[in-house]
Amino acid sequence: MSDQQPLVEAHDVVKRFKTRSLFGSGVDVCALDHVSLNLYPGETVALIGESGSGKTTLGKILLRLCPLTSGTVRFNGVDLFSMGASELRQARREFQMIFQNQLANLHPRLTVGEMLDESLRLHRPELDQAARQAQIEALLGEVGLVDKLNVRPARLSGGERRRVGLARILATRPKLVIADEPTSGLDAAIKLQMISLLKDLKSPETTYLIISHDLGLVRRIATRIIVLLKGRIVEDFPASRLDEGFEHHPYTQRLMHAADLFDANGDRRAHKAPSVVEEGFLDGRTDAILNAEGCVYACDCQRGSDLNLIHRCAKERPPLVEVALGHRLACFAAAKEGMSTPDNAPSTDETLKEKV
Ligand code: SF4
Repeated sequence: MSDQQPLVEAHDVVKRFKTRSLFGSGVDVCALDHVSLNLYPGETVALIGESGSGKTTLGKILLRLCPLTSGTVRFNGVDLFSMGASELRQARREFQMIFQNQLANLHPRLTVGEMLDESLRLHRPELDQAARQAQIEALLGEVGLVDKLNVRPARLSGGERRRVGLARILATRPKLVIADEPTSGLDAAIKLQMISLLKDLKSPETTYLIISHDLGLVRRIATRIIVLLKGRIVEDFPASRLDEGFEHHPYTQRLMHAADLFDANGDRRAHKAPSVVEEGFLDGRTDAILNAEGCVYACDCQRGSDLNLIHRCAKERPPLVEVALGHRLACFAAAKEGMSTPDNAPSTDETLKEKV
């Protein structure tokens, strides 16, 4: 995929937990089922999937914000889950997670300038007061809020608050930003503004992982798209392939259909059927109950027409394999003219082993 050393390497990550129950011991849920991925410096990757697919859990594990059951995660080549407290504190200066609605949550008593100053003091202690002041002015210029230096959050609009929140995070110059549904709760026009802002403020050195259920929106910023379904990666491909008429995983195709609900301005088209993702028809929470056999999309897939394939899809797990340069796909029916097939392409696990 790239000759560069990955910034983040997740290998064979499994996350299981038991659901809480008033009447018994709960149900064993597999939130992440042998997930492997690399993130490279400077990439903007979108992690797409419906509610309950494991996106947020994966984002947290990549930053060691929650424990994993098995597998490894390396940050800058070092095993994240083996780091001691001081090493982890140092690493945490280099990554940031933006939670849903976090950007709008600002300290009510501090001015915009004071909030940015606080972030800079914490994350960039090498800067003196004059250097911090210069940084604050530059940041406010970048987010178009130079006149809000001495203003408190109560006097900012919702969009302005998110801009300040973003400036506060980017002030720390993180190597990795994981943004979990950064446009959640916004109307279509503001969503587009936020995506443009994220794009404009990104430095070439910063890696973004943007978690979203909205393929239509994130395709505006992503250079690579990873599709997660019921805890498994089913496809990982360059975003440019969305417009190349390439035959994608059947579930990705379904997401693409849902994304067609939005026109070029991000407004919802009135005439289409409700999105399977937005309306929660495919809510993965109930389906994530441990089921290691077969393809995770077997119950909904319309692709297989011959009985042998249907039988295989129900019994055997399709491996995630590289079907073209930078394109991984987990589907037995992925064979297409010009593509290698899951049966004859090298498995991702083998590729990763070679790299390690
Ligand atoms: S492996 Fe089978 S069930 Fe799964 S997406 Fe491909 S054709 Fe459909």
